[in-house]
Amino acid sequence: MKIVETILELQQQIPNGKTVGFVPTMGFLHEGHLSLVQQAKKECDLVVMSIFVNPLQFGPNEDFDRYPRNFERDCLLAEQEGVDFLFYPTVKEMYPVQPALTVKVHEGVDVLCGKSRPGHFDGVATVVLKLLQIVSPERAYFGLKDAQQVAAIEKLIRDFHLRVTLVGCPTLREHDGLAKSSRNVNLTRSERENASNLYQSLLLGKQVVEAGEYRSQKVLSVIEEFVRKNVTGTVDYIEVLSYPELGEIEHLSGRCILAIAVQYSKARLIDNIILDVKGEF
Ligand code: AMP
Repeated sequence: MKIVETILELQQQIPNGKTVGFVPTMGFLHEGHLSLVQQAKKECDLVVMSIFVNPLQFGPNEDFDRYPRNFERDCLLAEQEGVDFLFYPTVKEMYPVQPALTVKVHEGVDVLCGKSRPGHFDGVATVVLKLLQIVSPERAYFGLKDAQQVAAIEKLIRDFHLRVTLVGCPTLREHDGLAKSSRNVNLTRSERENASNLYQSLLLGKQVVEAGEYRSQKVLSVIEEFVRKNVTGTVDYIEVLSYPELGEIEHLSGRCILAIAVQYSKARLIDNIILDVKGEF
């Protein structure tokens, strides 16, 4: 595995004529990230992973400084998984000057994380556009754990005619169902135990839908009641929307997302389940 810190070096080293799979991350790798690499390895000749904690996507009171980092460990994990190039730029390398242009996402950001993290998806879309330009991959791998991010990047690719195929990959979970996340290390022991209830609440919602309840409000109330009784963190949102449009719906039909965000003392966790509702209402 080659570790590359500059854009020029990366572009000089990636051989021509190979199918490149790209896995952008913020590091502090876990099996969720590695599952994206595994998928990329199946479908591409070589895999480029980036590790970059992008300041542009963090709000002023968010956890940019507290975001967990361990580059040495990440290198070992990435190499074991078969990453060919690990791109590890500095903030100065990615933003050498104050950018004169950034990307603004103005659809699908009035809900979920877009609502509570204003500007977050602008920062994500800007850095992803830059990274895609730098790496020029055929395929880029993103986790559906960040489903709103996947929806925004689909639109980035469509609206800017980017020549890349986005691959959305399933969420990897701990044994108790908690979605793997770099931020899980910032949970206290009791919060960690409690956090499995996020997924449990969504599973309950899914069961209710599968039992034939398609009214969004009813599904939402079941999830909310479970969360009220079982989740110790502060709820940021619980929403039931169409996916990937992220529109409000009275009834679940077709692809829908059940999503939750909860703030614990030092970590904000998100999770979702995407359902394909085939039943009539
Ligand atoms: P991050 O480092 O959190 O920005 O994540 C980098 C990529 O890994 C994003 O596309 C995430 O959606 C994806 N990812 C994060 N957690 C998981 C998970 N538990 N399962 C699958 N993919 C994940």
